[in-house]
Amino acid sequence: MLRVAVVGSGPSGVYTAQGLVQQSQVPEVRVDVLDRLPCPYGLVRYGVAPDHEKIKSLQNNLRAVLEDERVRFLGGVRIGPDGLPAARLRELYHAVVYCVGAATDRHLGVPGEELAGSWSATEFVSWYSAHPDSVADGFVLGARSAVVIGVGNVAVDVTRILARGTAELSPTDMPQAALTALAASEVTEISMVGRRGPSQARFTTKELRELGALPDTEVIVDPRELELDPQYNEPSGLPAANRRNVEVLRGWAATPPRGAARRIRLRFFLRPVELLGDGEEGEGRRVGAVRFERTVPDGHGGVTGTGQYEDIDAQLVLRSVGYRGVPLDGLPFDAEHGTVPHLAGRVVRDGTIAPGEYVAGWIKRGPTGVIGTNRPCAKETVTSLLEDAGMLVRRELPEDPLVALRAAGLTPVEWAGWQAIERAEAELGASLGRGVVKLPDWTSLLAAARTARP
Ligand code: NAP
Repeated sequence: MLRVAVVGSGPSGVYTAQGLVQQSQVPEVRVDVLDRLPCPYGLVRYGVAPDHEKIKSLQNNLRAVLEDERVRFLGGVRIGPDGLPAARLRELYHAVVYCVGAATDRHLGVPGEELAGSWSATEFVSWYSAHPDSVADGFVLGARSAVVIGVGNVAVDVTRILARGTAELSPTDMPQAALTALAASEVTEISMVGRRGPSQARFTTKELRELGALPDTEVIVDPRELELDPQYNEPSGLPAANRRNVEVLRGWAATPPRGAARRIRLRFFLRPVELLGDGEEGEGRRVGAVRFERTVPDGHGGVTGTGQYEDIDAQLVLRSVGYRGVPLDGLPFDAEHGTVPHLAGRVVRDGTIAPGEYVAGWIKRGPTGVIGTNRPCAKETVTSLLEDAGMLVRRELPEDPLVALRAAGLTPVEWAGWQAIERAEAELGASLGRGVVKLPDWTSLLAAARTARP
C-alpha cells in the first residue's frame, strides 16, 4: 500500500488527493490530508470573497474527495519545528506532497508602509473571511476614503467588499464582527490604482464587470488616463482577456458620473512612492494619503517615472500587490520566486531530485492562476509521484500515522470534528437570523470540533 501525506487542504492539496485515489496504476493508496487549521479548503474557505457564493460552492466538490474512504482529513496539525517536524512526517509516509500555497504577502518597500491604517489586502481578506489567525480589526473605522494598491483580482475583491452594503453582505457567511463593522463603514471613495496601463491589468473581465453592477456605486474612469496606454486605441494585438478589460473600461470612461452614494475610481499609470502620515509624527501615526508618481510606458511592457506626483487621500490603504511563498521546514527554497525548486513536482535539492518529496499549487508555481489552474498542476505532480511509487513503497512504515501524531502530542481534528464545526456555524447563523456564519477564532473552532459525534 502506498501511503501519502498531503500537507495543505486547499484546492491544490485536495486535487492532489483526488489524483492519487482516482488512478489505477497503484491499486492501494491511502492519503492523509493534513492542515494546520482545523478547517479544510484553504483559500476557498479563507480567500474566496464571501459574496462569491458560486466559487465558494466548489467546496462541495472538494468535500467529496475528503470524504472518500481512502482519504483522511487531519486538521490542526502544523508541520515544522513548532509542530510535527518535517523529517518525522517523512518517516511516517512513503511520500509527502506539500500544497501549502503562498502564506504571506509581498511588500511595496516604500516609506510609510507601516503607518496605522495601512494593511496588506491579505490581512483584510483574512478578517472578513474569519481566518482564526486574524487579530486585526478597525479597518474601516473612521475612514472615508480608501486606496487599494494593485489591479489584480484580490484588489477587485477587497474593493467590492468595501463598496457592498449590509443587505448584500448579510446573507454571506462573513463573521458577525466584520459584518457589523462594514455595516457602519463611512467609506464612500475607493481608488484602485495600477502602476501600469489598463491593457496590462491583472484582473479578469468577469470580476471587473462586477464592480459596475454594485448597488449605489459608480465606477469612474478618466479617459485621459486610458489614452496614455498605446494599446488602448490599438487593442487588436492584445490577448482576448485584456482586450475585454479595455472594452469594459472604455464603457465606463464614456459614462458621465450620476452621483451615486459610493465611487470606485480606477486609476492607471501611477506607482506608489510613499504613504503619507496624517498629523504629528510619532507612534500610532495614521496614514492620510498615498503619494504616487505618474508613470509612462517604457515600450517593453514596463513603465518609467515622470517626476510628476499625485497624492490621493486615504485613511485606509490596502496593499494588494500579490502573495508570496515562505520557506518550509527542511525543504529547499527559491527566495527570488518564493517557491520550492522542483522538476515536474518532484522537489529538487542541491540539484538532485529528493525522492518522496513533492510540491503542487502556489508553492510549486507561484501565486498565479485561478482555482482550476491547480488541477493540471496537481496532476503533473501526481504523475511524477506514481512513477516513483514502485521504489517508494519498498520502505517499511512504522505504524498508522495517526497513532504517531497522537504520540507526538498532537490532537488532529478529524472529519467528524470538522463536521461539528460546520454544525456550530449553522447554529450560530440561525441564532443571528442569518445563514451559516463562520466562527472567527481558534477557541470557538476547537471547542466546536470537540463536540464531534463519535
Ligand atoms: P496579481 O494578479 O499578481 O496582481 C498583483 C497586482 O499588484 C498587479 O496589478 C501588480 O502590478 C501589482 N503590483 C505588484 N507589485 C507592485 C508594486 N510594487 N507597486 C504597485 N503595484 C504592484 O495578484 P493577486 O491579485 O493577489 O491575485 C493572486 C492570484 O489569485 C491571481 O492569479 C488571481 O487571479 C487569483 N485570484 C482570483 C480570484 C477570482 O478568480 N475571483 C480572486 C482573487 C484572486 P504589475 O502587473 O505591474 O506587476
